[in-house]
Amino acid sequence: MPIQTVNPYNSKLLKTFDELTDEQLEQKIANAHQAYQSWKNSALSERKALLLKVASIFRSKKSELAKLITLEMGKLIAQSESEVEMVASVYEYYAENAEEFLKDRPMKVKDGKAFVRLSPMGVILGVEPWNYPFNQVARLVAPNIMAGNVMMIKHASNVPQCAEMIEKIFKEAGAPEGVYTNLFLAGKRIAKLAEDERIVGMSLTGSETAGSSLGEAAGKNLKKSVLELGGSDAFIVLEDADLDLAVEKAYLGRFSNMGQACTSAKRFIVMDKVADDFISKLQLKITGLNVGDPMDPKTQVGPLSTEDAVKKLDEQVQATLKAGAKALVGGKRMDREGAFYEFTILTDIKPGMVAYEEELFGPVASFYRVKDEREAIELANATNFGLGGAVFSKDTDRAVNVAAQMETGMIFINENLASRPDLPFGGVKRSGYGRELSPLGIEEFVNKKLIRIA
Ligand code: NDP
Repeated sequence: MPIQTVNPYNSKLLKTFDELTDEQLEQKIANAHQAYQSWKNSALSERKALLLKVASIFRSKKSELAKLITLEMGKLIAQSESEVEMVASVYEYYAENAEEFLKDRPMKVKDGKAFVRLSPMGVILGVEPWNYPFNQVARLVAPNIMAGNVMMIKHASNVPQCAEMIEKIFKEAGAPEGVYTNLFLAGKRIAKLAEDERIVGMSLTGSETAGSSLGEAAGKNLKKSVLELGGSDAFIVLEDADLDLAVEKAYLGRFSNMGQACTSAKRFIVMDKVADDFISKLQLKITGLNVGDPMDPKTQVGPLSTEDAVKKLDEQVQATLKAGAKALVGGKRMDREGAFYEFTILTDIKPGMVAYEEELFGPVASFYRVKDEREAIELANATNFGLGGAVFSKDTDRAVNVAAQMETGMIFINENLASRPDLPFGGVKRSGYGRELSPLGIEEFVNKKLIRIA
């Protein structure tokens, strides 16, 4: 697959980009490695000024950048604008707080003194997905630039204009050459880069397949890696929940970004007592929406990111239906040009069916009815993924107790799981390892160096 922008709204090929040759790639790694020699000694004030400038460029170009996201991967324009705002806030968060996060950490010792200093490590390679093309990059880049590392980013091949734009923004903000580098490369060339001794850490956000390939290569070469992979997050509604709130959040949690987020609410696990009400309210919410051009602010249902994404989702849905599940609403691609899929609710899903076992990366809600809390927890944990989840109940203690038994990296109570600069983000099980954002996000690619004074 060449690196290209195809507008998923109308399938028009807009632009193609050449992959880097081996010689060009070598030059870029050499430049990054060279840049690190000075960047690791730069003052925190210089790093902070750079990120604040990057944030201000994102804010000042909000409309242009949002349009680029929408053009390349089909996000509704208002959601693209929110993403740009979020990106600016991630850069600002680390610019403002990194000094505190990176402070020496005195150790309690029985004699003399000792402390841990968080020191930079070198060139970090990030492999990023298309679903939040600016935000996914910001989450990795902001803490690492503040920590004194330099970044090389291989972005998803369907968002090359966003990828190129981030590099331009860093340049415009005054980043020295090599501190931020965009790499136009195919995914299959990444594993080899783990062998390069100048690259000291690797991070990937994306599928399990890509994650395990990068994790294997990093492990073989004894490199630190962070993996943010898929999820099949449970959204548990207990019988004492505020049902209207739960339905509103269910709608946003499953259908924002056309359901293409690792932390989208994917499995709705609802207590029998309120299940009928919940499902009929959710069904009502997704009926009669405006389908159309994601650039048009009135549009409520836009395309998925690519033709391949629609095909994969439809295969999963058809296999599930064939095995005996039912589509209460939707259940197929739309009969129109572009990568459109009907908003769908699946019911009667049983173990062994595709929708039970796999992640559905699109606007398809899996609905389960359970008799009690125990069954809800068991079902929530009956997945190989362990990214996030949500619990709805007016009894906070009860909801926290349920949350404590769920095998995931994050649980939100009475709200949707949201990625915020000030909260850690990451999963367990096959959803990956490591954390992004918050103070924890700056600790992944630093040398926690012990300094002991007798
Ligand atoms: P991929 O995992 O294929 O793509 C994500 C990134 O990984 C892209 O930059 C891609 O590059 C790169 N990549 C692909 N294969 C390899 C490899 N072998 N080694 C190193 N890097 C690689 O995701 P898709 O876009 O194909 O989406 C498929 C599934 O991934 C979704 O259905 C969803 O389950 C999951 N996903 C999860 C995301 C998350 O936020 N956690 C985001 C996006 C997807 P290239 O584009 O050049 O192939």
